Amino acid sequence: MLNKRTMQDFGVVIVGGGLAGCRAALEICRLAPETPIALVSKTHPIRSHSVAAQGGIAATLKNVDTEDSWESHAFDTVKGSDFLADQDAVAILAQEAPSVVIDLEHLGVLFSRLPDGRIAQRPFGGHTHPRTCYAADKTGHAILHELYCNLLKYNVTFFSEWYVLRLIVEDQQAKGVVAYHIETGQLDILRAPAILFATGGYGRVFNTTSNDFASTGDGLGMTARAGLPLEDMEFVQFHPTGLYPAGVLISEAVRGEGAYLLNAEGERFMARYAPSRMELAPRDITSRAIAIEIREGRGIHSDGSAGGPFVYLDVRHLGREKIMNRIPFCWEEAHRLAGVDAVVEPIPVRPTVHYSMGGIPVNLNGQVRANATEMVTGFYAAGECACVSVHGANRLGSNSLLECVVYGRRTGAAIAKDLPSLPRPQLDPQFYLQAAAREIQHLFDQGGDLRIAQLRRQVQDCMTQYCGVFRTADFMERGLAELQRLKAAYGRVRLDDRQRYWNTELIEAFELANLLIVAEVILRSALSRQESRGAHFREDYPQRDDVNYLRHTLATYDSDGIRIDYLPVTITLFPPQERNY
Ligand SMILES: Cc1cc2nc3c(=O)[nH]c(=O)nc-3n(C[C@H](O)[C@H](O)[C@H](O)COP(=O)(O)OP(=O)(O)OC[C@H]3O[C@@H](n4cnc5c(N)ncnc54)[C@H](O)[C@@H]3O)c2cc1C
Repeated sequence: MLNKRTMQDFGVVIVGGGLAGCRAALEICRLAPETPIALVSKTHPIRSHSVAAQGGIAATLKNVDTEDSWESHAFDTVKGSDFLADQDAVAILAQEAPSVVIDLEHLGVLFSRLPDGRIAQRPFGGHTHPRTCYAADKTGHAILHELYCNLLKYNVTFFSEWYVLRLIVEDQQAKGVVAYHIETGQLDILRAPAILFATGGYGRVFNTTSNDFASTGDGLGMTARAGLPLEDMEFVQFHPTGLYPAGVLISEAVRGEGAYLLNAEGERFMARYAPSRMELAPRDITSRAIAIEIREGRGIHSDGSAGGPFVYLDVRHLGREKIMNRIPFCWEEAHRLAGVDAVVEPIPVRPTVHYSMGGIPVNLNGQVRANATEMVTGFYAAGECACVSVHGANRLGSNSLLECVVYGRRTGAAIAKDLPSLPRPQLDPQFYLQAAAREIQHLFDQGGDLRIAQLRRQVQDCMTQYCGVFRTADFMERGLAELQRLKAAYGRVRLDDRQRYWNTELIEAFELANLLIVAEVILRSALSRQESRGAHFREDYPQRDDVNYLRHTLATYDSDGIRIDYLPVTITLFPPQERNY
């Protein structure tokens, strides 16, 4: 398996070809065009999960509502975060939003328009003004394709369908990654003074998710295995409207355009949970409301009777023309995957795992923290895998694409600036290549009795059962015990495919190892936070507790267990207050 060439040198290695990775690459190309950049992704870049983003990207352009302001955007974001977001990071997000959106427009992104030609903006959950810019309900597609096409003009080497197995960190300096070419089975070290992770989320840790099959938290798993902490991993976003039963997303844009949520009694039940915002309450509150309706017997069965596993999302009153103009993709998804014509029938929905608020802890320039006080030299992270933290305990819709472009750009700029002073990494490539080759051989050789899909399903079921919308210590302890059993079972996995070429089973084995680590970190972090805040709801601690838990969790993984430390929350603009809608 070992190839002749063992190591390739670059100025920057970016892992991840989604919005965050591509936007960071573009900024480095603009500011330091001579820098050789490697952009590595296990899927082709334009198949990254960003391409599936639907509803839009928030920015106070004031095209629809002249009363809007960045301060209002920042306040909505901080309140949405249940006051856990770092407010200096949120201020940057809101202040830089209009300029990144205009820049995207100049790159060629085809945003939907107002009749006078300016970029259209729609209402979104938790935002008090209509400020979400969109391209129908295919916004991620429109943005990612333009970014990728623009990158083709520059000095970027694309490693598409290369899987990164390991992050190399020695003495708190990131030095490179070990990468595996899926097509040929070749292993290579990509070395650079700056490594950027933009590896996306981990929705596949759960059994029902809106995320891509590739959203397996690899970047988080690799960071944890390198002995670095992960921040606020207990905060898992459940999107209120996953299509039942597939779990794929019915965008919040549908409620932004005026859809109703109805229970078995035909009641717009959000009136009891968030009377002032109704269907446009933040996602944590709306998901909990739906889960309670289902739990208390007001969900709906497929034959329309009460007591079932879903509620209805009803758009019939919007009329065919508006549905087909504004939310055509959602209509198509409901039609294709649930056989529902949303023009004449309501859509069956229930909460689905959607987004990771936590991630690799970074400062305002995307540089990764080694612990509460020190940074890792040459290691950066941006996008969903990073935690800067602008979303705190709960993200508002259309703020994630925004985070990817604002912090992708900032991190790219920081790398371009830091590069001349970053030390040139020295490392022994054979050590890492041989370790990776041994790991692969070991997977081929272990003749167990478990298939990957079986074990993965058990991990996903365990997390869904024990660490869902509602949590208790007792339940999570049981989840952790079950997870320990599943971790041990990884040694019993048998691979049927032992080819070097296009061995997707091998890739799934690597991904499963990361899922197991991420799952454990989520559960441990969730157990240690004895309060309810945002998406983390503890039935045994139903109140928010600012005295003890207005702080970020830092969870550091090692083979003996997980250590929990804390990081203060930065509060510069809005003192914490009670959160009502
Ligand atoms: C269905 C859906 C709809 C959404 N709609 C919206 C919306 O309307 N507005 C909004 O703001 N947000 C939305 N979100 C959230 C938002 O799309 C994501 O948070 C964001 O796009 C993440 O971008 P990213 O660049 O961080 O990662 P991704 O786009 O997920 O890209 C991750 C990249 O990392 C690569 N990668 C991962 N692991 C490895 C590895 N081991 N080796 C090599 N490469 C690797 C992948 O190949 C990929 O290129 C939506 C999310 C979903 C799932």
